[in-house]
Amino acid sequence: MSTITGVCNCRNISVTIPTPKESMLCHCESCRKSCGSTYSANLIIGPSQLQVSGQPAQFKAIGTSGQNVTRNFCSNCGSPIFTTIDVDPSQVFVKAGLFPPGQVPKPTIHLFVKNMEDWEVAEEDTTKLETQ
Ligand SMILES: [Zn+2]
Ligand SMILES: [Zn+2]
Repeated sequence: MSTITGVCNCRNISVTIPTPKESMLCHCESCRKSCGSTYSANLIIGPSQLQVSGQPAQFKAIGTSGQNVTRNFCSNCGSPIFTTIDVDPSQVFVKAGLFPPGQVPKPTIHLFVKNMEDWEVAEEDTTKLETQ
């Protein structure tokens, strides 16, 4: 199976995942804050597909579901690494920006489109969910 490997800004933490075919953009307020941008770009995989080297720190937030959203980040440089959600443990959201340019496929899903700024554009052929 082909894989891609990404690293945080200080290179203390690296992640290897199966080569993704699509990405997901999340516009929720929690992603905005934790990524410092108006959305987060994510690659969705199963927990068993994630290989992490290094020890991310964790921040637990309460998601819109009322259950924990656990944000794993590098405690040295602050890069977001991946997020897990208690409401669906089968999914891990790996931050697309960790990977080298040219390795992140086109988004097919937008979450929390109600939060999109009026200048942000979602492509016609993507799935757009008001919330999650
Ligand atoms: Zn780092
Ligand atoms: Zn989000």
